[in-house]
Amino acid sequence: MTLDRDAFFIGGEWAAPASDQLLQVVSPHSEEVVARVPEGTAADIDAAVAAARTAFDEGPWPRMTPAERIAVVEAFSGLYAANLEQMAGLITTEMGSPTSFSNLAQSPAPWMQIEAFLAVAREFPWEEARTGALGSDVIVRHEPVGVVAAIPPWNVPQFTIMSKLVPALLAGCTVVVKPAPESPLDPYLMAELLQEAGVPPGVVNIVAAGREAGAHLVAHPGVDKVAFTGSTAAGRAIGAVCGEQLKRVSLELGGKSAAIVLDDADLGPTMEGLKFVALMNSGQACVAQTRILASRSNYDAVVDALAETVSAMTVGDPADPATEIGPMVAQRQQERVEKYIALGQEEGARVVTGGLGMPDGLDRGWYVRPTVFADVDNGMRIAQEEIFGPVLSVIPYDDVDDAVRIANDSDYGLAGTVWTSDAEAGLDVARRVRTGTYGVNTYTMDFAAPFGGFKASGVGREFGPEGLAQYTEVKSIYTPLPEG
Ligand code: NAD
Repeated sequence: MTLDRDAFFIGGEWAAPASDQLLQVVSPHSEEVVARVPEGTAADIDAAVAAARTAFDEGPWPRMTPAERIAVVEAFSGLYAANLEQMAGLITTEMGSPTSFSNLAQSPAPWMQIEAFLAVAREFPWEEARTGALGSDVIVRHEPVGVVAAIPPWNVPQFTIMSKLVPALLAGCTVVVKPAPESPLDPYLMAELLQEAGVPPGVVNIVAAGREAGAHLVAHPGVDKVAFTGSTAAGRAIGAVCGEQLKRVSLELGGKSAAIVLDDADLGPTMEGLKFVALMNSGQACVAQTRILASRSNYDAVVDALAETVSAMTVGDPADPATEIGPMVAQRQQERVEKYIALGQEEGARVVTGGLGMPDGLDRGWYVRPTVFADVDNGMRIAQEEIFGPVLSVIPYDDVDDAVRIANDSDYGLAGTVWTSDAEAGLDVARRVRTGTYGVNTYTMDFAAPFGGFKASGVGREFGPEGLAQYTEVKSIYTPLPEG
């Protein structure tokens, strides 16, 4: 069955593209073209924004009650749940996520998000009467923010679309989704499910496109809010445009998170945990905890255990269920990761497993060797810059205060973990590290709780009531003082 497509989803229909520009979807494993889809241009973005604008200004969606919108999103959730495997398969095909990760996170997590947002929306104070300071009632309403531009990256495409699309829909917004050019296939299945669920025409519009069309969407006067996930560099540019235009904006950006291994941690389960938190999605994860902090007294034991664990991981075809580390998304990403492996060596760090070159047994595909560096100083570029691949740095600390200091010595502030057999000591560390999320002996995201970044990792929060509120404007309506 071909995965090729020839239209965009605009105004509830499959609309012909404005140009004949195509995106070639290339398998990161075979390096062969697996699909061709239209590439959006400024004219396609204009058509999508016009449809979203009309649906917001004149259509039924923003005027429906929250309960009516919840019913449509419930229908979407049911359809989504019935298509998890197909969705996971599309994502593995287009961007090379190992099937084991796709079936765990690439489609189940977006579905769990839908359910979690539905639960929040059922309890949300859409309109409440408060007794004001003057004694009269004030009605406080959460109204939809308007037309939302949702711009996700390729690494967890459905995950980062759903965290924007679902709260936007529940709030009564209309949406233009601009998927990344590397991952344009999964949104087609999503569009079909939205259509089947009964989302009215123009409420969701989807145009996959590159950076230029993305910038056109961000600056478009018909857009009221931009919800972006991607690199910190792009986030700064988008934030500047939105600041100038006073557009609402939320930014989920990069990270360089630290996992702190305390001396009392049981190294067996800790290594199993680190395998996931540091190397999920082949290291192409914003929350990847690629700085591993170990005390000087326990340093060699942690380095040896990590080297043993990482060198035993199965690298190869992402479609193979046994694969733990797949290829990088694109050749440029493979080159970028290799550049950082070379840089680490130049900076004086010591490769304890991995290094430059293709993994054993592979002669094509955009693979890199999972690499662990020891003797890393937190000031080195490999410890400060987001690599976005399976490259870990083990950094020594003197005591717990020093570990917290090193964890916080980063421009980023997205995630982190602490590994310990003392839960209270773990919570103490968790409270002191300046990141938006933190895990004690785990990093299982909870979609009922807010997620986002401190510092250069972002602005705003996704998930939970805080994530839903980002798609609303708050209005206060005053009423007269009671007589007498
Ligand atoms: P990227 O910034 O290059 O692109 C992200 C998306 O933005 C793509 O759709 C791209 O086409 C678009 N884009 C790029 N520049 C733009 C501009 N100026 N205006 C409008 N749109 C623009 O990032 P990427 O390489 O696709 O993704 C990897 C990055 O995403 C990493 O830095 C990672 O940490 C981050 N990320 C963050 C989170 C989070 O929740 N904090 C989650 C996943 C990924």
